Amino acid sequence: MPERKPAAVLTVGSELTTGLRVDTNTARIAAKCTAAGYRVTEAVTVADDRDAIAAAIARLARGNELVVVTGGLGPTHDDLTREAASSALGRPLVRDDRLAEQLEAVARRHDDPVARAQVLRQAEILDGARVIPPVTGTAPGQVIDTPSGLVALLPGPPSEMLPMLEQVLEGARSVAEPVVLRCARILESDAQVRAQRALEGRADVELSVLASPGLVDVVLMDVGCGREGLAEAAQAVAHAVGEACYSMDGASLPEAVVRLARAAFVRIAVAESCTGGMIASAITDVPGASEVFVGGVVAYSNSLKTALLGVEEDLLRSHGAVSREVAEAMAHGALSLGADFAVSTTGIAGPSGGTAAKPVGLVWVAVAAPDATNAYELHLRGDRQQVRQRAVVNALDLLRLSLERA
Ligand code: AMP
Ligand code: MG
Repeated sequence: MPERKPAAVLTVGSELTTGLRVDTNTARIAAKCTAAGYRVTEAVTVADDRDAIAAAIARLARGNELVVVTGGLGPTHDDLTREAASSALGRPLVRDDRLAEQLEAVARRHDDPVARAQVLRQAEILDGARVIPPVTGTAPGQVIDTPSGLVALLPGPPSEMLPMLEQVLEGARSVAEPVVLRCARILESDAQVRAQRALEGRADVELSVLASPGLVDVVLMDVGCGREGLAEAAQAVAHAVGEACYSMDGASLPEAVVRLARAAFVRIAVAESCTGGMIASAITDVPGASEVFVGGVVAYSNSLKTALLGVEEDLLRSHGAVSREVAEAMAHGALSLGADFAVSTTGIAGPSGGTAAKPVGLVWVAVAAPDATNAYELHLRGDRQQVRQRAVVNALDLLRLSLERA
């Protein structure tokens, strides 16, 4: 098994150590470094304190072949990472003329001479550093080659940091990119046991299973199997988890739904009661959804279920709004919005409204397809938000399965 090179992540910012902002950079950097073949040994967060930043950089640079530092590279007085790195690594700060020229234009937009001077601080780089030009913001990144490895200084805003990180890691990749089998409507331990069985005897693939409400990600990592070996392992695991797996290329569940509908040249619609538009929102989050999604109806009251979806009053009276019959009628009614497939939800999200026969968490989902309409009785756990969120995941996944079979 190839030895993974040690790496560390250092995030800088008092907004992080006081809890005013959530540190999302660490997770993203750690994931990217791991995917590139590094073993992240440590992730540290320090306040905007020059000595603390310098001490952390000096210590992490000693034991790691890559240290990724984010934050504190901006123009303001509390941006101290440049100075701290300079003293920790024993490299003076020098002005990069090309950067200074670019920043002059930005500086001129400021009225205050102090602010103008501050902007130009961003042209200072550690002597010998490789400059990564700013892509979306104004702060450049810098990569310093030290005797023990690379130290990369990147800006804090995730949209500026991520493209620069890709540049830092380019060429450093020594393992295959992890494969994620994204699954729905399967229990975490069922997914794990099935995947483990499929991988029996393979010490060259590392397995981890990550669950979030209603969803399970089965992650396969290359620890010696190589790209082809990982692809083989992924096929074996996909076979073992079966139809619960909705994507192997990172696509989210709504993305998988949109992709399938597009491939089948069909249009989809929704009829939502207890999910109140959350399914429509999830689908319209996907770029290009307009090609397949005609829209839908949030029919919360019985009268709208009748008026907009054609659900017969008799059905509502005899079975109640939360029933197989009404779910099916809602989905069927949504087809007349101009769709080939439609999904509906009607349920009791709680905390009140449950009865012995229809407890909180009971949700009926129906999927109407050109040839048939099928309804599914779900008993979902959690508080109101969790029940609704799980209903969305289940509805999208049942729609996905129906589209796959189309
Ligand atoms: P800075 O580069 O320190 O000027 O950071 C600018 C902004 O980037 C901060 O105000 C945060 O909104 C964001 N930011 C900095 N560090 C992080 C981090 N670790 N995770 C997420 N956002 C961050
Ligand atoms: Mg900052």
